[in-house]
Amino acid sequence: MPSSTRVPVLDFHAHFPVQGSRDPAREEYVARHGAAKWERVTGWLQDDQRSWRRAWGFPDPEPPGSDEEMADRWASEVDRHRLIRIVFVTGGDNDRLARIVAKHPTRFVGFAHHDPFRPDAAAELERAATALGLRGYKLIAPLLSGSITDERLWPIWETAERLEIPVLIHFGPLRYQGIVAHPNMSPLALQDVARAFPGIPFVVPHFGCGYPKELLHLAWVCGNVHVDTSGSNEWMRWMPYDLTLGGLFRKFLETVGPRRILFGTDSSWFPRGFAVRYLEEQLRACWELGCGEESVRGIFAGNAARLLRIPLPDALGAQGGGE
Ligand SMILES: [Zn+2]
Repeated sequence: MPSSTRVPVLDFHAHFPVQGSRDPAREEYVARHGAAKWERVTGWLQDDQRSWRRAWGFPDPEPPGSDEEMADRWASEVDRHRLIRIVFVTGGDNDRLARIVAKHPTRFVGFAHHDPFRPDAAAELERAATALGLRGYKLIAPLLSGSITDERLWPIWETAERLEIPVLIHFGPLRYQGIVAHPNMSPLALQDVARAFPGIPFVVPHFGCGYPKELLHLAWVCGNVHVDTSGSNEWMRWMPYDLTLGGLFRKFLETVGPRRILFGTDSSWFPRGFAVRYLEEQLRACWELGCGEESVRGIFAGNAARLLRIPLPDALGAQGGGE
């Protein structure tokens, strides 16, 4: 048994791979500039992605199979790595992801993911949380058609606050979409909303993805702002100063504290499955910083379990400890 399973693990950030999902970034670009240019602007990324996979020892992704097949593959990953749950923050539309989660309700958690500017967005969030059993809401701020502070979004924040569900919002550059400038790029854009809706646990992924200072400042004034650690955090390489995973953990532990840090992987595709490399690297960073056992248990499972209201069995504390 690898030592990485010695603490309980709940992956707060993964994506369920679905067949036939639309690619709005491609569609919009091709409509305006043509397919040949799209090939050129995305071609820039391909060599880099190959090097990234090689650096981490990741295999090339396979196209997703049917929902049934992917659900079974993901369920066996959850069992193999003894995860308490895996949270799929996206996976087709809300109905589709709810059907997927319903196949393995003791292993999977799903989040709603729909345009908050839809006229029925608040009602849809309510339906997703109450009728479909989804347990959070996922947004990508730099893809929204308007400002995240727009008052047209008030009803959806009110709904999330009333239902007390976590809202995970990506801020920071979107490389594939080619977006590095946008009014909702920095986590600071969330300040007024986070203060107006203190009952919503907001989660900003990937340690702020290029905006660590802004996220630290936001979390400093907003006690309801959390951070997730998911992905390779490759954005560190694109910063004009040196950063390390251990350095990020240290800063966030010092400023935000261990209760508002949530482990995630951003896993999605096979044959990689659950990105255990990220778990190992992050656990190592925490232990090397001298993080206490209680903090580690909070970061890797307890904090997410608290936000999602998933009871952690006491027995898990001892699981794997003697192996
Ligand atoms: Zn993600």
